[in-house]
Amino acid sequence: CGIVAIVGRAPVAPLIVDALKRLEYRGYDSAGVATLDDGVLARRRAPGRLVNLEKRLQAEPLGGNIGIGHTRWATHGVPNETNAHPHFSGGVAVVHNGIIENFSDLRDELARDGYSFSSQTDTEVVAHLVSRELAKGADPVEAAHNAIRRLEGAFALAILFEGDDDLIVGARNGPPLAIGHGEGEMFLGSDAIALAPFTDSITYLEDGDWAVVRRNEMSIFDIDGNPVERRRQQSLGTS
Ligand code: GLU
Repeated sequence: CGIVAIVGRAPVAPLIVDALKRLEYRGYDSAGVATLDDGVLARRRAPGRLVNLEKRLQAEPLGGNIGIGHTRWATHGVPNETNAHPHFSGGVAVVHNGIIENFSDLRDELARDGYSFSSQTDTEVVAHLVSRELAKGADPVEAAHNAIRRLEGAFALAILFEGDDDLIVGARNGPPLAIGHGEGEMFLGSDAIALAPFTDSITYLEDGDWAVVRRNEMSIFDIDGNPVERRRQQSLGTS
Protein backbone atom coordinates (compact mmCIF):
# COMPACT_ATOMS: atom_id res chain seq x y z
CA CYS A 1 0.00 0.00 0.00
CA GLY A 2 1.23 3.50 -0.71
CA ILE A 3 0.50 7.18 -1.21
CA VAL A 4 1.79 9.67 -3.76
CA ALA A 5 0.71 13.30 -4.13
CA ILE A 6 2.05 16.00 -6.44
CA VAL A 7 1.49 19.76 -6.51
CA GLY A 8 3.14 20.07 -9.89
CA ARG A 9 3.83 22.06 -13.02
CA ALA A 10 2.68 19.54 -15.62
CA PRO A 11 -0.09 16.92 -15.84
CA VAL A 12 0.43 14.72 -12.79
CA ALA A 13 -1.67 11.59 -13.37
CA PRO A 14 1.02 9.68 -15.34
CA LEU A 15 3.71 10.78 -12.86
CA ILE A 16 1.61 9.59 -9.94
CA VAL A 17 1.07 6.17 -11.53
CA ASP A 18 4.81 5.81 -12.19
CA ALA A 19 5.56 6.70 -8.57
CA LEU A 20 2.94 4.21 -7.35
CA LYS A 21 4.76 1.50 -9.34
CA ARG A 22 7.80 2.20 -7.22
CA LEU A 23 5.64 1.37 -4.16
CA GLU A 24 4.37 -1.94 -5.60
CA TYR A 25 6.84 -3.81 -3.40
CA ARG A 26 4.68 -2.81 -0.40
CA GLY A 27 1.78 -4.90 -1.77
CA TYR A 28 -1.71 -3.77 -2.85
CA ASP A 29 -5.03 -5.00 -4.21
CA SER A 30 -6.35 -1.92 -6.02
CA ALA A 31 -5.31 1.59 -6.98
CA GLY A 32 -6.62 5.02 -7.84
CA VAL A 33 -5.74 8.60 -8.69
CA ALA A 34 -7.61 11.92 -8.39
CA THR A 35 -6.70 15.28 -9.87
CA LEU A 36 -8.19 18.73 -10.30
CA ASP A 37 -8.96 18.47 -14.02
CA ASP A 38 -9.83 22.00 -15.20
CA GLY A 39 -10.38 22.78 -11.52
CA VAL A 40 -12.86 19.94 -11.05
CA LEU A 41 -12.19 16.92 -8.87
CA ALA A 42 -12.04 13.78 -10.99
CA ARG A 43 -10.78 10.25 -10.36
CA ARG A 44 -10.03 6.91 -11.95
CA ARG A 45 -9.87 3.73 -9.88
CA ALA A 46 -9.38 0.05 -10.60
CA PRO A 47 -9.09 -3.20 -8.68
CA GLY A 48 -6.03 -5.36 -9.25
CA ARG A 49 -2.71 -4.40 -10.76
CA LEU A 50 -1.65 -0.87 -11.61
CA VAL A 51 -1.85 -1.82 -15.28
CA ASN A 52 -5.65 -1.89 -14.84
CA LEU A 53 -5.55 1.71 -13.62
CA GLU A 54 -3.28 2.64 -16.52
CA LYS A 55 -5.81 1.16 -18.95
CA ARG A 56 -8.58 3.20 -17.33
CA LEU A 57 -6.44 6.33 -17.70
CA GLN A 58 -5.66 5.53 -21.34
CA ALA A 59 -9.37 5.17 -22.10
CA GLU A 60 -10.28 8.28 -20.09
CA PRO A 61 -7.24 10.48 -19.40
CA LEU A 62 -7.13 12.78 -16.39
CA GLY A 63 -5.64 16.24 -16.81
CA GLY A 64 -4.56 18.53 -14.02
CA ASN A 65 -1.30 19.64 -12.43
CA ILE A 66 -2.24 18.60 -8.88
CA GLY A 67 -3.31 15.19 -7.70
CA ILE A 68 -3.18 12.30 -5.24
CA GLY A 69 -2.74 8.58 -5.80
CA HIS A 70 -3.05 5.39 -3.78
CA THR A 71 -2.37 1.71 -3.75
CA ARG A 72 -4.74 -0.03 -1.34
CA TRP A 73 -4.28 -2.99 0.95
CA ALA A 74 -7.88 -3.49 2.03
CA THR A 75 -8.61 -3.67 5.75
CA HIS A 76 -12.30 -2.55 5.75
CA GLY A 77 -14.34 -3.50 2.68
CA VAL A 78 -13.55 -5.85 -0.17
CA PRO A 79 -11.04 -4.86 -2.86
CA ASN A 80 -13.26 -3.45 -5.61
CA GLU A 81 -13.56 -0.17 -7.49
CA THR A 82 -16.07 1.37 -5.07
CA ASN A 83 -13.81 0.80 -2.08
CA ALA A 84 -10.65 1.91 -3.91
CA HIS A 85 -9.28 5.31 -2.94
CA PRO A 86 -9.42 8.31 -3.46
CA HIS A 87 -12.67 8.80 -1.54
CA PHE A 88 -14.72 11.93 -2.23
CA SER A 89 -17.08 14.06 -0.19
CA GLY A 90 -18.21 17.41 -1.53
CA GLY A 91 -15.09 18.95 -3.02
CA VAL A 92 -12.70 16.88 -0.90
CA ALA A 93 -10.62 13.85 -1.97
CA VAL A 94 -8.73 11.62 0.47
CA VAL A 95 -6.24 8.77 0.20
CA HIS A 96 -5.35 6.82 3.33
CA ASN A 97 -3.06 4.03 4.42
CA GLY A 98 -3.74 2.41 7.79
CA ILE A 99 -6.85 1.94 9.92
CA ILE A 100 -9.14 4.57 11.49
CA GLU A 101 -9.95 2.75 14.75
CA ASN A 102 -12.90 5.00 15.70
CA PHE A 103 -14.47 4.95 12.24
CA SER A 104 -17.74 3.34 13.31
CA ASP A 105 -18.46 6.04 15.93
CA LEU A 106 -17.54 8.70 13.37
CA ARG A 107 -19.67 7.04 10.71
CA ASP A 108 -22.72 6.99 13.03
CA GLU A 109 -22.16 10.65 13.90
CA LEU A 110 -21.79 11.65 10.23
CA ALA A 111 -24.82 9.56 9.21
CA ARG A 112 -26.90 11.42 11.84
CA ASP A 113 -25.73 14.64 10.15
CA GLY A 114 -27.04 13.38 6.82
CA TYR A 115 -23.82 12.12 5.22
CA SER A 116 -24.27 8.94 3.22
CA PHE A 117 -21.56 6.41 2.58
CA SER A 118 -20.77 4.98 -0.82
CA SER A 119 -18.00 2.61 0.30
CA GLN A 120 -17.43 0.06 3.06
CA THR A 121 -14.09 1.62 4.02
CA ASP A 122 -13.03 3.24 7.28
CA THR A 123 -11.40 5.94 5.12
CA GLU A 124 -14.60 7.53 3.83
CA VAL A 125 -15.27 9.08 7.27
CA VAL A 126 -12.17 11.24 6.77
CA ALA A 127 -13.52 12.73 3.52
CA HIS A 128 -16.89 13.45 5.14
CA LEU A 129 -15.30 14.96 8.27
CA VAL A 130 -13.25 17.40 6.17
CA SER A 131 -16.25 18.19 4.00
CA ARG A 132 -18.43 18.86 7.06
CA GLU A 133 -15.84 21.29 8.43
CA LEU A 134 -15.81 23.14 5.09
CA ALA A 135 -19.61 23.29 5.18
CA LYS A 136 -19.37 24.86 8.66
CA GLY A 137 -17.21 27.62 7.16
CA ALA A 138 -13.66 26.46 7.90
CA ASP A 139 -11.00 27.09 5.26
CA PRO A 140 -9.40 23.96 3.76
CA VAL A 141 -6.40 23.91 6.11
CA GLU A 142 -8.56 24.40 9.23
CA ALA A 143 -11.02 21.82 7.93
CA ALA A 144 -8.27 19.24 7.48
CA HIS A 145 -6.77 20.01 10.89
CA ASN A 146 -10.15 19.75 12.66
CA ALA A 147 -10.83 16.44 10.92
CA ILE A 148 -7.40 14.95 11.67
CA ARG A 149 -7.87 15.82 15.35
CA ARG A 150 -10.90 13.51 15.45
CA LEU A 151 -9.04 10.47 14.12
CA GLU A 152 -7.80 7.59 16.25
CA GLY A 153 -5.65 4.81 14.87
CA ALA A 154 -2.97 4.52 12.25
CA PHE A 155 -2.93 6.73 9.20
CA ALA A 156 -0.97 8.33 6.45
CA LEU A 157 -3.26 10.73 4.59
CA ALA A 158 -3.18 13.04 1.61
CA ILE A 159 -6.11 15.42 1.09
CA LEU A 160 -6.96 17.39 -2.07
CA PHE A 161 -9.46 20.28 -2.24
CA GLU A 162 -11.47 21.29 -5.28
CA GLY A 163 -11.27 24.98 -4.34
CA ASP A 164 -7.46 25.22 -4.15
CA ASP A 165 -5.15 23.97 -6.90
CA ASP A 166 -2.07 24.83 -4.83
CA LEU A 167 -2.76 22.80 -1.68
CA ILE A 168 -2.37 19.26 -0.45
CA VAL A 169 -2.61 18.44 3.25
CA GLY A 170 -0.68 15.39 4.44
CA ALA A 171 -0.77 13.73 7.84
CA ARG A 172 1.10 10.92 9.51
CA ASN A 173 0.40 8.79 12.55
CA GLY A 174 1.99 5.39 12.03
CA PRO A 175 2.46 4.58 8.36
CA PRO A 176 5.32 6.59 6.83
CA LEU A 177 4.90 9.79 4.81
CA ALA A 178 7.61 12.04 3.36
CA ILE A 179 7.62 15.41 1.64
CA GLY A 180 9.79 15.78 -1.47
CA HIS A 181 11.02 19.27 -2.30
CA GLY A 182 11.12 20.30 -5.96
CA GLU A 183 11.69 23.56 -7.84
CA GLY A 184 8.27 25.17 -7.92
CA GLU A 185 6.66 21.81 -7.27
CA MET A 186 6.22 19.64 -4.21
CA PHE A 187 5.62 15.96 -3.58
CA LEU A 188 4.32 13.60 -0.92
CA GLY A 189 5.09 9.90 -0.84
CA SER A 190 5.16 6.87 1.39
CA ASP A 191 8.93 6.75 1.03
CA ALA A 192 11.88 8.39 -0.69
CA ILE A 193 12.01 5.57 -3.27
CA ALA A 194 8.62 6.63 -4.64
CA LEU A 195 9.85 10.21 -4.99
CA ALA A 196 13.35 9.41 -6.31
CA PRO A 197 12.53 10.30 -9.96
CA PHE A 198 11.39 13.76 -8.84
CA THR A 199 13.73 14.81 -6.04
CA ASP A 200 16.27 13.57 -3.51
CA SER A 201 15.50 16.38 -1.05
CA ILE A 202 13.22 14.83 1.56
CA THR A 203 11.56 15.81 4.83
CA TYR A 204 10.10 12.87 6.75
CA LEU A 205 6.97 13.54 8.78
CA GLU A 206 6.98 12.17 12.32
CA ASP A 207 4.03 10.55 14.08
CA GLY A 208 1.44 13.19 14.98
CA ASP A 209 2.63 15.60 12.27
CA TRP A 210 0.47 17.09 9.58
CA ALA A 211 1.66 19.29 6.74
CA VAL A 212 0.44 22.03 4.42
CA VAL A 213 2.12 21.48 1.05
CA ARG A 214 2.09 24.04 -1.78
CA ARG A 215 4.25 24.47 -4.89
CA ASN A 216 6.63 26.95 -3.32
CA GLU A 217 6.32 26.30 0.42
CA MET A 218 5.46 23.73 3.00
CA SER A 219 4.79 23.89 6.73
CA ILE A 220 4.58 21.12 9.30
CA PHE A 221 2.47 21.27 12.47
CA ASP A 222 1.78 19.16 15.54
CA ILE A 223 -1.73 17.98 16.34
CA ASP A 224 -2.45 21.21 18.28
CA GLY A 225 -1.48 23.29 15.25
CA ASN A 226 1.90 24.46 16.55
CA PRO A 227 4.59 24.67 13.84
CA VAL A 228 7.32 22.05 14.15
CA GLU A 229 10.74 21.91 12.48
CA ARG A 230 11.74 18.71 10.71
CA ARG A 231 15.12 18.25 9.12
CA ARG A 232 15.37 18.31 5.34
CA GLN A 233 17.79 15.66 4.14
CA GLN A 234 19.32 14.34 0.94
CA SER A 235 18.10 10.80 0.47
CA LEU A 236 20.39 8.35 -1.28
CA GLY A 237 17.79 7.83 -3.99
CA THR A 238 17.68 4.78 -6.21
CA SER A 239 17.79 6.15 -9.71
N1 GLU B 1 -8.18 1.01 5.83
C1 GLU B 1 -8.22 1.54 4.50
C2 GLU B 1 -9.04 0.67 3.58
O1 GLU B 1 -9.32 -0.45 3.90
C3 GLU B 1 -6.81 1.76 3.94
C4 GLU B 1 -6.03 0.48 3.70
C5 GLU B 1 -4.60 0.76 3.19
O2 GLU B 1 -3.71 0.96 4.03
O3 GLU B 1 -4.40 0.76 1.98
O4 GLU B 1 -9.44 1.10 2.55
